[in-house]
Amino acid sequence: MACNGKCDCKKYVYFFGGDKSEGDASLKQLLGGKGANLAEMSQMNLPVPPGFTVTTEACGRYGKVGRDKLFGLIESQVKKALDDLEKLTGKSFGKGPNPLLLSVRSGAAVSMPGMMDTVLNLGLNDETVAAMVELTGNERFVMDSYRRFIQMFGNVVLGLEHHEFEHALDAVKASKGVKLDTDLTTNDLKEVIVKYKQAVKKASGKDFPTDPMEQLWSAVQAVFDSWSNPRAIRYCQINDIRGLLGTAVNIQTMVFGNSGSNSATGVAFTRDPSNGANEYFYGEYLINAQGEDVVAGIRTPQQITLAGSRVWAVSAGVPEEERAADFPSLEEAMPECFKELDNIRIILEKHYTDMQDLEFTIDNGTLYMLQTRNGKRTAAAAVKIAMDLVEEGLIEEEEAVMRVDPAQLDQLLHPVFTKSAEEKAVKLTVGLPASPGAATGQVVFSAEDAEKWVSNGRTVILCRIETSPEDIGGMHVADGILTARGGMTSHAAVVARGMGTCCVAGCGDIAIDYANKKFTVGGVTVKEGDWISLNGSLGAVYQGKIDTIEPELTGTFGHIMELADKYRTMNVRTNADTPHDAGVAVKFGAEGIGLCRTEHMFFEGDRIIAFRRLILVAEKVKKLKEAHAAKTIEDLKTAIDSCNKAEMDAVNQYAQALEELLPLQRTDFVGIFRAMAGRPCTVRLLDPPLHEFLPHDEKGQREMARQMGSSVDEIRALVESLHEFNPMLGHRGCRLGMSYPEVTEMQTRAICEAACEVKGSKPEIMVPLVGNVKELSIQKKIITATIDAVAKEQGKKLDVMIGTMIEIPRAAITADKIAEEAEFFSFGTNDLTQMGCGFSRDDAGKFLGDYVNEGVYEYDPFQVLDQEGIGELVRIAVDKGRQARPNIKLGICGEHGGEPSSVEFCYNVGLNYVSCSPYRVPIARLAAAQAVIKAKRK
Ligand code: PEP
Ligand code: MG
Repeated sequence: MACNGKCDCKKYVYFFGGDKSEGDASLKQLLGGKGANLAEMSQMNLPVPPGFTVTTEACGRYGKVGRDKLFGLIESQVKKALDDLEKLTGKSFGKGPNPLLLSVRSGAAVSMPGMMDTVLNLGLNDETVAAMVELTGNERFVMDSYRRFIQMFGNVVLGLEHHEFEHALDAVKASKGVKLDTDLTTNDLKEVIVKYKQAVKKASGKDFPTDPMEQLWSAVQAVFDSWSNPRAIRYCQINDIRGLLGTAVNIQTMVFGNSGSNSATGVAFTRDPSNGANEYFYGEYLINAQGEDVVAGIRTPQQITLAGSRVWAVSAGVPEEERAADFPSLEEAMPECFKELDNIRIILEKHYTDMQDLEFTIDNGTLYMLQTRNGKRTAAAAVKIAMDLVEEGLIEEEEAVMRVDPAQLDQLLHPVFTKSAEEKAVKLTVGLPASPGAATGQVVFSAEDAEKWVSNGRTVILCRIETSPEDIGGMHVADGILTARGGMTSHAAVVARGMGTCCVAGCGDIAIDYANKKFTVGGVTVKEGDWISLNGSLGAVYQGKIDTIEPELTGTFGHIMELADKYRTMNVRTNADTPHDAGVAVKFGAEGIGLCRTEHMFFEGDRIIAFRRLILVAEKVKKLKEAHAAKTIEDLKTAIDSCNKAEMDAVNQYAQALEELLPLQRTDFVGIFRAMAGRPCTVRLLDPPLHEFLPHDEKGQREMARQMGSSVDEIRALVESLHEFNPMLGHRGCRLGMSYPEVTEMQTRAICEAACEVKGSKPEIMVPLVGNVKELSIQKKIITATIDAVAKEQGKKLDVMIGTMIEIPRAAITADKIAEEAEFFSFGTNDLTQMGCGFSRDDAGKFLGDYVNEGVYEYDPFQVLDQEGIGELVRIAVDKGRQARPNIKLGICGEHGGEPSSVEFCYNVGLNYVSCSPYRVPIARLAAAQAVIKAKRK
């Protein structure tokens, strides 16, 4: 019967295995990354244990309608898939003689390592356990699987804490005098099982469930629930993962890495995720182990290849003989399986044309693939892999540009240790180089403390025996992470690499004492708050702080930047106010200065004194000019009665302050123009309200009074007179130039004289905070007259563009009029957001977080351009500006100029350039290239 639309006949379950794989990699949103790739691998005839995936849509639905209704909708589809699975495998779920055991694993469309839950060996109860023993003849293995199942199910589904099981396990281990789980005998494991069941009964008040169907449904529900657990939510927040339907549930036939010494389990990357090297197959495995053992860092994992194993042995200080005997590579221990896995590595890389992160299990000599996904990687690895893939002919250049996340580039731009300082530092120990970079910070021992300390402005290194997903918040804020246990694929290593945080893992020499907040290593005790340094590229741990230097921007980083420059059409400038910052930005590829804020120059050294002298008399001089209808200071001087000493003194003080400031400003501009070596420099005239330059505390006012030779009362009165209730909407920007045109003149003169001094310089003068074209006309007259005067004095031709910021909504909507006067617009989206959204830049932080949480704004509009609102103002101004002056130059200099999605917007709206802080220049270059490619692909 055809669907009448009233039922819910939606497909919620997709089977994979045999010759019937219903999904493929294109269905990632619906099947989650894991489910879609299992289906794809199955279609590729790779050895995947068969199973089925319950869709992310089902999870989304579960969140809305609850368990009973959702399970009613999917029950028949799950049962049918289970039937098919039984037929395909020849096993029976919940009964012998050949019981079907299942793994139940989460998997959202975006990978979230360790964030959600997994249950393995599902379907075991006393009856199926007996059948398994009969079938395999390996009682120890069955008991090992059973105790793992009770523990995982107890934890994930029944909500028991890990330690409730750990206590029981440790008690049995202690009583038997063994260290490793693998040393427990069958009888020991039986004891563990009894204790585990008791623990479950004690904590939940119920017996451990024996009905396999009940086990399955409860596990599915637990996976759905894990989608909304706090750590998954926090992971999504930190990684800006949005808009997903939920997690899928992958229900798959169990294969056993713990069935003896011919079995193993492992994780591998097809290339090195730390640096992108493609020298050997990079991964770890454990013999006779299951699932989470490798990533949990409980036993020291072994390497996949012999070459990798030898490198590992050197860094871990293990002699070759011991390595070969106790930690052989997979290549040595199981050569046939290794060959097959190595072959699959090549097939998968070619198929997905990207570095893959693989999970596999070897069950009694047979290899099975449990997962493949595009591997998380550091920025350095991302860049190298993208460039290498182009060279290998697997991807095109444009695709390589798209493969690197612009925001991730930030990792490559941060300082590294100076070689000499690192050589001199006291090395405490060496662990695994889990995530590259350099970090110096104060030691803390819990994620919670890390968050607290950082919120108090400190820099911390988080030290843990091993990390778990609960630590995510602390890991996020820490500058470095140090763990005593765990390999290169441990939770700490994987998460740190994803975050770009420096990490040294598996430092076995370190004995961490959480209770007393300290660790000891080689006779040295490091307490909470002590400084240590980490080199995540070498795995080295040092005592104390180490000096850092700027990183090299050559090699593959240089190549990806060259590629970005090849494809981008928009220019990238920088916001810089000092020759140093300008120099850094040029090194990062800045093609000009988009915003030089001149106010910062007034604060330096003694010049603040000169400027305060000016402020002290500015209002008085203004009034005198009005009273005497004097246009210039010179006119005023002649107009004032020379006997009026007080008036004359004020005018002289004003003129002298300007005279003192002029050469200082000129020197500033000379430095900047030199650093920019012929690149265009947009210099903005004074912008902030004058009270920002005055001291507001008693001590400062006393000091100023002393410097000015006036009384504290006079200074206090001045400060009070300049007080504004709404300074951001007050006497600032071009309004200052309107009141004190001599400041506009002095700044213009300094810019022009500097331009005459530095050959080839290209100054552009920008008038801030224009809302009405008449403001610009008046300021422009002063600027033009000054340019002409300097040109004449110096006998040089001065080519100086004059433009304005568009940062007031009125300016945006009257942009056609403003463009008649302005040769360029630079969108000041900080103020435009402030005034367009009506959010105070200084105060909105208090509530904007709530607005983002409630979804009123998707992101903080001061960080990510509000394209719908503020973007519309930009669009209007661009259109009107170009109508009035077709060749008008358009740029952006608000904070958004270095934020990738805003850069894309700027490209789409047709700006000529973006301008951002020096460290964001490479990010903007790449984002600008991606914008072109994305637009082409649409
Ligand atoms: C702006 O408003 O966007 C801008 C760049 O100027 P400022 O941040 O200095 O106000
Ligand atoms: Mg502004």
